[in-house]
Amino acid sequence: MTENLNPFAIAQAQLDEAAKVLQLDPDMHAFLRRPMREFHFSIPVRMDDGSTKTFQGFRVQYNDARGPAKGGIRFHPDETIDTVRALAAWMTWKTAVADIPLGGAKGGIICDPRKLSQGELERLSRGYMRNIARYVGLTQDVPAPDVNTNPQIMAWMLDEYEVLMGHREPGVITGKPLELGGSAGRGPATALGGMFTIREAAKLRGIDLSKATAAIQGFGNVGSFAHKLITEMFGTKVVAVSDEFGGIYNKNGLDYNVVLEHLNSTGKVIDCPGTEPISNKDLLELEVDILIPAAIENQLTSQNADNIKCQIVAELANGPTTPEADDVLNSKGIYIIPDFLCNGGGVTVSYFEMVQNGYQYYWDEEMVNQRLDHKMTSAFHAVDKMAKAKKVDTRVAAYLVAVNRVAEAVRLRGWV
Ligand code: GLU
Repeated sequence: MTENLNPFAIAQAQLDEAAKVLQLDPDMHAFLRRPMREFHFSIPVRMDDGSTKTFQGFRVQYNDARGPAKGGIRFHPDETIDTVRALAAWMTWKTAVADIPLGGAKGGIICDPRKLSQGELERLSRGYMRNIARYVGLTQDVPAPDVNTNPQIMAWMLDEYEVLMGHREPGVITGKPLELGGSAGRGPATALGGMFTIREAAKLRGIDLSKATAAIQGFGNVGSFAHKLITEMFGTKVVAVSDEFGGIYNKNGLDYNVVLEHLNSTGKVIDCPGTEPISNKDLLELEVDILIPAAIENQLTSQNADNIKCQIVAELANGPTTPEADDVLNSKGIYIIPDFLCNGGGVTVSYFEMVQNGYQYYWDEEMVNQRLDHKMTSAFHAVDKMAKAKKVDTRVAAYLVAVNRVAEAVRLRGWV
């Protein structure tokens, strides 16, 4: 049988497995298997050549029992409603496992941002916000950056919202530039949060990170900060990194500043001086201590799971591992730090951003990072403890912690 790579089918299958272990009430299970609300819309955009192109946009509010829905917006040519649904479900479990008072949502536009001018990108971003403005807000749903979106896009969306609503409401969106109410530390937050979980997992496994090696797939906001931070914080040697165009390898380690400089001047990591090329496939199969998928879904599958040789998989991407691959990796004794635990640092600092916006008083980066460490370390140990208590793998354990919390909020509200 061929593997089902539909991300929403995977998210539902993961929930089903957790529901079995939890002996979750069937009515609750049925409710949690589907998004509560979703919006589909067309965004007409005036292009630079005078023509009008219509883009398809989505926003899925998966569950808001624990608080306002929360989650990023992706700009991607392969975006589908099922991908957005899966990512919105994972946001629901992510905010619950991080124990922040928010629900889960996700948004997306089918587009290739690299083919758009700055002006077109701005009009598309504003058009997206015009479509969802009525349904988002500090107490309803708070978007943020994700794949191919950034603080500038958040700034345009914020401005569009505030112009439409006629008042300032910085907490309507997070991942903003500092000048418009962003939080110190939000840029590196996803990667930094992941570092805290890697530190804890390495302790459990008796791995000395200062002597360890790592490979990182993906060199966007998350992957590039992961390279910088794992080197600076632990002295771990990063032997390979990649982006969508290909990867680079050096057994003695890749210097972050050299790779970044090369990326800034060429737009790609390949051909960076002092490195050999490596394919994305070979990067994942390298013999390293820590493997960090930091790109997109479905990278560790039944096709390559057998060949994965690391000790820890730290899932900084959302949905990088399929259920079939999970079984193989677990049977090999690899420690998986599941995505919605490992990459919860971004949304945790987004939550801190909302808090700071609410009382218009801003913390310094040290305070943000300290509080992030506390949240991530507590979440990591809650999951690890659950895995040991119930004798389940770490992904199921993360689901047990998260689903229990969301189901309790649903029950207390009297919905199911
Ligand atoms: N897009 C990030 C994620 O997948 C951050 C979401 C947020 O900050 O709301 O976790």
